Order: sequence, then C-alpha cells, then structure tokens
Amino acid sequence: MATLGWVGLGAMGSRLAARLLGAGHTVVGWNRTPDKARALARAGLRPAASPRAVAEAAEATFSMVTDDAALRAVALGPDGIVAGLRPGAVFVEMSTVGPAATREVGAAVAARGAAMLDVPVSGSTITVERGEASFQAGGDPAALERVRPWLMAMGSGGVTHVGELGLAKTMKVATNLGLAVQMLAFSEAVLLAEKSGIAREAAVDALLKSVIASPMVKYRGPFVLGRMPREAWFPVPMIQKDLQLALDQAHAVGVPLPTTALVQQWLTMARGLGLAALDFAALFDVLASLSGRPPSPNR
Ligand code: NAP
Repeated sequence: MATLGWVGLGAMGSRLAARLLGAGHTVVGWNRTPDKARALARAGLRPAASPRAVAEAAEATFSMVTDDAALRAVALGPDGIVAGLRPGAVFVEMSTVGPAATREVGAAVAARGAAMLDVPVSGSTITVERGEASFQAGGDPAALERVRPWLMAMGSGGVTHVGELGLAKTMKVATNLGLAVQMLAFSEAVLLAEKSGIAREAAVDALLKSVIASPMVKYRGPFVLGRMPREAWFPVPMIQKDLQLALDQAHAVGVPLPTTALVQQWLTMARGLGLAALDFAALFDVLASLSGRPPSPNR
C-alpha cells in the first residue's frame, strides 16, 4: 500500500480521498479550512500542516480545488505542493481549471525533477461515491501508468489519455459544456410538454425512458420534481467557470460555441434570480418562471 497526498478536501476531493483510504492506502491531507478535513481524519486521513508537507510525505500528491487562483495558491510558493515534491514524485492535478494555469504549474514541477499529470474527473459526487468516476489524463504516459492503480481505486469508469499536459483540462471543459446544454434542452422539453397539458411527473418519466436520457439527465431529471439534494452537486457559479474556460479556449482556437454561449447567459439569469447556491439544474426554474409555470419544489 502507498502513502499518497491529498490537497483540497471539498465536495469532490473528500470523496475521492475517502476512496483511497477505503482501498487501504495511507492518505496525508490538507484543506484550507481544516474543519472540513475532520470527518476524514476520523476515517484515517493524516492531516498535514501545509500543501508542501503533504507532498513531502507522499510518493504521489493529488489536488482538487476550485479554480486557477486556488491551484496557484496550493501549488506555488514556499508552502506549496511544488516546494515539497521529491525528484521522481508525481503530482496529479484533478481540478477543472484552465490549461494555461496547469502548464504554468507543470513547468515548476518539471524544474524540481518531478512529473505532473492533469487528470480531471468526469462525474459528480454521487458518481465518486458509487466508484464509477472516469478520468481524462494529460502528460507523460509513463507517469500515468504509475498512478493508474490509484485512479482505478477512485473510480472504475476508465482513463482516457488525451495528450500532453493541459489537454485533459481542455477535454474536461469540452465535456462539461454538454452538461449545461443538456439540462437546458431537458427543461425546454418538460415545460413544452407540461404547458401543453401533460403532467410534469409524466413528462419527466417519459424523457427518462427515452433516447435522450443520458446519465446526466437521469441524475438530474428528478431534481425538477423536487428531489434536488440539499448540498448542491455542481453549483451555478462552478459550471459557469467551466463554460467560461470552454468559451475562452474556443475563442483562442477559433471554434464557434453558440449553444454554450447561450447557456452561459441562462446561468447568469439563474444567478440574477437568486439561484446561485443551487445545482445548475436550477436552469429549469429560470425557464419555468418565463413560461408561467411553477419552479421545481426544491426551495
Ligand atoms: P468545493 O466543494 O467548493 O471544494 C473546493 C475546494 O477548493 C475546497 O477544498 C476549498 O477549500 C479549495 N479552495 C478553493 N479556493 C482555495 C484557495 N484559494 N486556496 C486553497 N484552497 C482553496 O468544490 P468541488 O465540487 O469539490 O470542486 C472542486 C473541483 O472539482 C472544481 O474545479 C470543480 O469544477 C471540479 N469538479 C466538480 C464536480 C462536482 O460535481 N462538484 C465534478 C467534477 C469536477 P475550502 O474548504 O477551504 O473552501
């Protein structure tokens, strides 16, 4: 069994780290807000004083934080992960952040004689709990083979190597734009059916049994009937961050993303209506209010 490091024990990080503990590994961890690490400490996680201390103790260090600024905060500087990496160690960065910030940290990692992979996670908190998460990976294939068994302990959905460091972050935001686009299309279908005389429950049931029922739609379809979890799986500002990364990349490479740009505006409307703390399935409520129909009974 290995000694592994974890930095960022939020909704996703805590669940992924829990799977490593469950597989019998020693996990040394750090979170900016130490209270959030308490439950995992009771499950065996060894708290460390800084991201640097995590990396010093581990043969591979994983991080899962919010955005570019958070990645720079935990990775760089005297107490950052990079400062603690031993030559030959591997840093596996799993956050959905921009490829440029990922490569910037990657250059600092390489200067220490360590390897960096970007391995964002496909799936939500429930997918991780079920052990079904999948991964996209960028960086040195040999380093990926070293960490593959630990990735498999976190999720059995498989690993797709997409190219050099940073490209997995691009693949991840290309994937995530579909989440919001699908949710808006699903909401349009439910409300069209409902306002034409079909009960909302029947419309959701029909769609979940139809060919449009992707895993994402199967998870979130019931949310519009009031079954949205209290802890938002993927809050509105978080998915807006991903769509913005996709739009920025699209601008850089010259690919039009008309539906993504439109859904981004709908998510801004959701924030304007006070729905920012909810899962992005709150897109339904925005459209419902404009259709003269009641919102989902979640609040
Ligand atoms: P979360 O629960 O809000 O956790 C965010 C983590 O980042 C927390 O540990 C937070 O520390 C840390 N953090 C934020 N800013 C920081 C800073 N400046 N310095 C140090 N630590 C900082 O979010 P999450 O759902 O776990 O998401 C984490 C990443 O996973 C995001 O990039 C997200 O897009 C991606 N992701 C999320 C999902 C999902 O369904 N939720 C699915 C796949 C990927 P504190 O506890 O101190 O705030």
